[in-house]
Amino acid sequence: MCHVCDDEHPDHAPAGPDRRKILKMAGAGLAAVPLSGVLSSGGAQAAEAFSASTLGQSPFQVRAYGAQSTGGRIAPLQIQRRALTPHDVLIDVLYAGICHSDIHAVRGDWGAPSLPIVPGHEILGRVLAVGNQVTKFKVGEIAGVGCMVDSCGTCENCLADREQICLKGTTFTYDSPDKISGGQTFGGYSDRIVVNERFAIRIPPGMDLVSTAPILCAGITTFSPLRHWRVRPGQRVAVVGLGGLGHMAVKLAVAERADVTVFTTTPGKIADAVRLGAREALLWRDAAAMQKLANAFDLMISTVPYAFGVQPFMDMLKLDATFVNVGLGEARGINPASMAFGRKSLAGSMIGGIAETQAVIDHCFARNIRPDIELIRPDQINAAYERVVNKDVRYRFVIDFASTKESGSASR
Ligand SMILES: [Zn+2]
Ligand SMILES: [Zn+2]
Repeated sequence: MCHVCDDEHPDHAPAGPDRRKILKMAGAGLAAVPLSGVLSSGGAQAAEAFSASTLGQSPFQVRAYGAQSTGGRIAPLQIQRRALTPHDVLIDVLYAGICHSDIHAVRGDWGAPSLPIVPGHEILGRVLAVGNQVTKFKVGEIAGVGCMVDSCGTCENCLADREQICLKGTTFTYDSPDKISGGQTFGGYSDRIVVNERFAIRIPPGMDLVSTAPILCAGITTFSPLRHWRVRPGQRVAVVGLGGLGHMAVKLAVAERADVTVFTTTPGKIADAVRLGAREALLWRDAAAMQKLANAFDLMISTVPYAFGVQPFMDMLKLDATFVNVGLGEARGINPASMAFGRKSLAGSMIGGIAETQAVIDHCFARNIRPDIELIRPDQINAAYERVVNKDVRYRFVIDFASTKESGSASR
């Protein structure tokens, strides 16, 4: 199999170390070795191709997985990626997480998507080519892409590293108007993606490749509020909803030595919450237990992706404490008097900026915090969606594109 174009043909013979070996090296601490240099020992032709002399010079077709209708099945299709601009990197996608947002978007829960829709905003891959002014990456390094791929870079929020709230409109990774190429953006359920280097995240050499992708949405979405509200050791933090986001919220809060309590609707997750480091987990329907926790919490983070009654949770906040909704579900049934008497806050938080996304990746690497994942093949995406909706995932599905390419598993 050709290392350049994934085709079977004789004139692009494999050169030097095979792909599996290169990726193992990347995971073992040698990601900074330029792939072109590695390949040059065995085949000048392949090395030249990898050095971006041709790769990415024109718009190109890639295989992707997406839906052709609102709520339709995820199936293989072809999409076009743009030619590399001077600051673009071309990434060969190895792993892509499945976020509940992907399912909401495909099913039109937040409005009809543009079609076809190719989801995926937890993307990890290897840099195949770089534009001629790229300084952040070299060919062969591992890069991540999270929930956004472009912003104006000049507005007040962008200048404050809050690109996710760009005042001129953030370009999200999929189903978002693409200001560079026109049309809509396509996400990470695809063989390759082209992104401006500003929006690609450096993955430290030695970081586990298989489990890292979910940090790029589930991780940053929960890390950002813990930082913004300055959670300190010993403070009581509640995590409402134990799914992909919630399990990262628990791990990240426990790593700050917070005292964590989980609220879940699934009895089978109570033991899991404790295993993840929580002091205890309670069922929402246990009203008596919740009443005993009146005025207990310094911060609550809700990852629940649908509308629900929030007042029982507001009652558990201390004076001046905050309930943060990161799940985008409607907060119903708020009693303004209870907020006034306790000077309590209801807040929202959406992912994080690029600098903060880099920070959570570096933080998770330094502290060895890894999402709990289940690896699936691309042809299992539809079944995985059903399992996410049925709360039957522990705790993030990651689509394995690496083993569909050339030499099998490329996990280390
Ligand atoms: Zn997400
Ligand atoms: Zn901006």
